Amino acid sequence: MPSFAYKVIRKKGFSANASISISGDKGVVVRAPFWMSMGMIEGFIREKSSWIEKNLYRFNTKKITNRYTEGESQLFFGEEYILTISKSENPGKNRVEIIENKIRVEINGMLPAEKQSEKIKEALLYWYLEKGIEIITQKVNYFSNEMRVNYKRINLKNVTSIWGSCSPSNCLSFNRKLVMAPHEVVDYVVIHEVAHMRHRNHGPNFWKLVESFDSQYKYHRKWLKLNHHLLSI
Ligand SMILES: [Zn+2]
Repeated sequence: MPSFAYKVIRKKGFSANASISISGDKGVVVRAPFWMSMGMIEGFIREKSSWIEKNLYRFNTKKITNRYTEGESQLFFGEEYILTISKSENPGKNRVEIIENKIRVEINGMLPAEKQSEKIKEALLYWYLEKGIEIITQKVNYFSNEMRVNYKRINLKNVTSIWGSCSPSNCLSFNRKLVMAPHEVVDYVVIHEVAHMRHRNHGPNFWKLVESFDSQYKYHRKWLKLNHHLLSI
């Protein structure tokens, strides 16, 4: 897996080459001829990866702002879902659900238009945190069992600078933006924090332990550095 996320679009009509574009809002887009196999596309991306990484850094400072409108794409554990909004006069309590590639939010249709995107954001955030803590807890349980350590508590926090932390009393905190990152990246952050219950430092034994559970951890760290701007709620 390269350290950045990318999207492949097939070109219509005949062309001999693939091309790459990078933008602040769309990220890395690879336009490939229809005849090119995924293996060839991956090879092409590997070949260009240092150029892509260099150029991606320029966009990292730009923050993506969600508008919470119909058709906008939302990330949930690395998968992209299209936001659909349904308006009801009597919205139920459980107002967010995933149906195939859509994330459907039900809101009160009687609200004035300017209040609606605020409500959508609120409903989505609540749902993200509820599902996020559930999935991250499963991951923490799995890896702490594997490393034979016990944690006290898990929190999702609204922080900008760190992805996770482990307190001296084994309380684990994770950045809530992680609910948008791909599973393998979240696994890395979980492994990192759980491993701190064995080694309270970043010494060679700590990294050896991390590597024994995630042989790609360097890529996953880099992925977070390069793609954090895509994760915004
Ligand atoms: Zn650490």
